[in-house]
Amino acid sequence: MTNCLFCKITNKEIESEVILENDDFLVFKDIHPKASVHVLIVPKKHIESVDHAGKDEVALLGEIFLTAKEAAKELGVSGGYRLQVNVGRDGGQEIDHIHMHLLADKKGEEVPLK
Ligand code: AMP
Ligand code: ZN
Repeated sequence: MTNCLFCKITNKEIESEVILENDDFLVFKDIHPKASVHVLIVPKKHIESVDHAGKDEVALLGEIFLTAKEAAKELGVSGGYRLQVNVGRDGGQEIDHIHMHLLADKKGEEVPLK
């Protein structure tokens, strides 16, 4: 999608701090972190939100969790972390390209996402 920020980031038209990349996903640091570790797992395929996903996206929706697990290992937070997906404006979704937040606080205190 031409006018989508996360398409531009996954295409490398816009810079990001990449944590890991595989065939289908780019994982990069959130620009406004809400925990001491906050990264986004973003598919290279443009899907607007969970509400826009169908049976064709089942494999991708599974892979997003496995990629999050790999990112947690890379970040050294595999002892504990939170995964969050916001859906729609009332669900706190600001960027209309499906993505999963991975949050962890290495000190162990709770940091609310929104
Ligand atoms: P959401 O509210 O679930 O749509 O999450 C969008 C996230 O994208 C927010 O946490 C933003 O801080 C983050 N964000 C927005 N622009 C950028 C950017 N250029 N690079 C990295 N993260 C971004
Ligand atoms: Zn997009």
